[in-house]
Amino acid sequence: MALIVIVENCTGCGLCEQACPFGAIAVTDGVAVVADNCTLCGACLEACEFEALRLEGAPAPEADRDLETYRGVWVLAEQRRGRIAPVTYELLGQGARLGRDLGVPVTAVLLGRGVTDAAASLVEHGADRVVVIDDPLLEWFQADAYVAAVTDLIRRERPEIVLCGATAVGRALLPRVAARLGTGLTADCTGLDVDPGTRNLLQTRPAFGGNILATILCPRHRPQMATVRHKVFGRARAEAGREGRVERRGLDGVSVELKARVLEAVEVVEETVNLTEADVIVSGGRGVGGREGFAVLEKLARVLGGAVGASRAAVDAGWISYAHQVGQTGKTVCPKLYIACGISGAVQHLAGMQPSEVVVAVNKDPEAPIFKVATYGIVGDLFEIVPLLTKRFQEITEGSS
Ligand code: FAD
Repeated sequence: MALIVIVENCTGCGLCEQACPFGAIAVTDGVAVVADNCTLCGACLEACEFEALRLEGAPAPEADRDLETYRGVWVLAEQRRGRIAPVTYELLGQGARLGRDLGVPVTAVLLGRGVTDAAASLVEHGADRVVVIDDPLLEWFQADAYVAAVTDLIRRERPEIVLCGATAVGRALLPRVAARLGTGLTADCTGLDVDPGTRNLLQTRPAFGGNILATILCPRHRPQMATVRHKVFGRARAEAGREGRVERRGLDGVSVELKARVLEAVEVVEETVNLTEADVIVSGGRGVGGREGFAVLEKLARVLGGAVGASRAAVDAGWISYAHQVGQTGKTVCPKLYIACGISGAVQHLAGMQPSEVVVAVNKDPEAPIFKVATYGIVGDLFEIVPLLTKRFQEITEGSS
């Protein structure tokens, strides 16, 4: 693909220059000139008022310009063995809020085999309608079948917004669907809102290494698609007896070409770190100083019935496995209590733990940025403070038992 300047249309107004986040287009001698660092992101195309820019070689978008014909908010529900993934309930809460703002219903789409019973729980958590596509081909997640089913349904029903968890399934499914529909997708959103005037979805996510929060729009195509990580939003409250419509469908008329066949699904039972579900997390950073240092944190976590987290610096140093990493490239957590020990508080770490209810920071540097987000700060050496906390919490828990 290449960004072409149509010289006869270019007025040299500079709108493209202002819109480019990479400084890759500039007006020289009254005409826009594209530099080598252009990422073909299209920001300048949106800004140009004179049709003086064109992406050559871009696949023709399938989505039509008749945006008004797209209505409704959809949440793609995720399930395994009929159990709904928690992120789905979080998305239903957001979907219901966006639906209210736009004056449209919320539809949950549930794919699987023998999963119809799970639809009731989606209704209780905010879905006005559940479309269940029940078929043996959908028993396990297989991208070919799921993509065909979801793409077909979207083409028929034309929702304006489609949300999905940023899980392994969501990350494999949604980009493929978006590409087939010729529309946009924003991954790993941390904020969702709508502009009721334009009905555009305002999709906020960290950008440029987490240094800024970018709000991304998809103003010219529908549906608008976004993935959201588990725990970024709170879970929708269940309303027992809430009423909604459940529609059962099959894969009739959907062309599915499987490139692989699942012979067997084997569940691997291993000792996993359930950080995302933990109410208490004791996290360590470079200040912990080594593998042995984490043993001190583990004791405190054990007394509090919590899990151990880590900064990327500690993971990169090989002191603890990646499964423990909290942050932009690790897990997003939302415990009741997050104790950060020897962690400076880089933006990329904060991106994964800031929604925590109470943050306690232990750091020997009183200027450490972590104190800016901490509910309680303790300035001092973690090797003195953490054992004292462990001892005191142990006394309290033993006293109360
Ligand atoms: P440091 O910044 O080195 O801080 C160590 C802290 O320990 C200091 O504040 C020091 O005062 C304190 N300390 C030292 N000794 C003691 C002691 N004995 N007692 C008490 N305090 C002590 N980081 C993440 O954590 N998660 C991510 O997911 C992540 N993703 C990233 C993605 C990108 C694209 C990039 C560019 C970076 C990412 N990072 C991530 C790295 C991030 O920028 C920081 O480098 C990292 O978080 C720093 O880890 P730290 O706080 O443990 O180490």
